[in-house]
Amino acid sequence: MKLRVTVLGAGFGGLELATLLSEALGEQLNLTLIDQHDSFYFGFSKLDVMFGHQRADAVKISYSSIAKPGVKFRQETITAIDPNTKKVTTNKASYEADVLVVALGANYDIAATPGLAEHGNEYYTFEGAEKLRDILPRFNSGHAVIGVCNAPFKCPPAPSEAALMLHDYLTGRGVRDACTISIVIPFGLPIPPSPDSSKALLYAFEERNIRFIPQRKVASVGTGKKITLDDGTELPCDLLLGIPQHVAPAVVLQSGLAENGWIPVDRLNLRTKFPGVYAIGDVTSVGTPKAGVFAEGAAKIAATSIIDVFHGKENESPYTGAGSCYIEFGKGMVARVDVDFFSGPKPFGIHHQASEELTVDKKLFGSSRKQRWFGL
Ligand SMILES: Cc1cc2nc3c(=O)[nH]c(=O)nc-3n(C[C@H](O)[C@H](O)[C@H](O)COP(=O)(O)OP(=O)(O)OC[C@H]3O[C@@H](n4cnc5c(N)ncnc54)[C@H](O)[C@@H]3O)c2cc1C
Repeated sequence: MKLRVTVLGAGFGGLELATLLSEALGEQLNLTLIDQHDSFYFGFSKLDVMFGHQRADAVKISYSSIAKPGVKFRQETITAIDPNTKKVTTNKASYEADVLVVALGANYDIAATPGLAEHGNEYYTFEGAEKLRDILPRFNSGHAVIGVCNAPFKCPPAPSEAALMLHDYLTGRGVRDACTISIVIPFGLPIPPSPDSSKALLYAFEERNIRFIPQRKVASVGTGKKITLDDGTELPCDLLLGIPQHVAPAVVLQSGLAENGWIPVDRLNLRTKFPGVYAIGDVTSVGTPKAGVFAEGAAKIAATSIIDVFHGKENESPYTGAGSCYIEFGKGMVARVDVDFFSGPKPFGIHHQASEELTVDKKLFGSSRKQRWFGL
């Protein structure tokens, strides 16, 4: 008997889960992986596109390369999910399965921040990063702000990375002295679970004259080249690199799977309260940051549970919520923070300072996933 699995979303979590199940079950598996897009890209490639380091078409990896035993990919838009029957409807078909895995990530509610769409910019969508790539070369003087509109947001180091990379970009163009750079973030530190990574980032900001504004969010973007923060403070702003409010995809919110905006799951196995329905990655409220490495870690736990149940055993290995995030420190140097959210009484992170070795490591991180998921 084959195990029928439907995986919704072919991002970090969905791709890793499909790979693990295919490796373990091979032709005993009948897995359909559905995504609305024709290709995958790493979240961090948006920074490369925005600063013109990489062409947009060079960072996209076509799903047509997926060739794994027991796995078929469908490019379709999911329009309805029934978690009671595990039935999924798309713009082209409907699917029924023994196991349903929701890995649909997080979307953005740009309209939640008044003026962001009209007078600001964001780099969290691919289109936003491409737009900024064309705007940045015309920014020669004035106030630049990297501003978070609300938490949670994907990849907590990404605003700090953007600030350091913007410094390099403006320095390279010889206009840095005519510009200020500020970073507005809703936390007290750039990376709260890792005081050492935060210290290294704060030092790097100070060295480069980047103003760090903690515990604040961007509340609105005005017409008169200014933004308003959530405490009413106004900041001059000629160029906003915004991080928009995050939301679960509408189809998830309509399905009854979400509570308080995200899907609650059992940390032991990533199961939802609906039998046979799992959720992994950014779409959940599991308690880890919204980042690819954590979506991948969750996929491993969910895959173990699915395989165990298929083989008629229950052998749960608790999710430690551990993952390593690379941090662009500017000048092509990369640092790393190894974070563990659930093993100890509180989350903790170990900092590895920026080095050329870690720059190579980050490249390997990307190329190893490309190989593992797409065979490229
Ligand atoms: C600027 C930036 C930098 C980042 N840097 C890093 C980093 O260095 N390291 C790191 O680990 N993470 C990083 N991230 C975060 C990372 O990209 C995400 O956290 C990760 O992709 C989440 O994985 P996921 O599987 O949960 O969701 P996703 O990878 O977002 O996948 C969800 C998939 O679902 C699909 N989907 C959604 N709705 C539908 C629908 N209705 N029908 C069909 N398909 C649908 C989407 O097309 C998407 O492919 C970064 C993010 C950004 C924005």
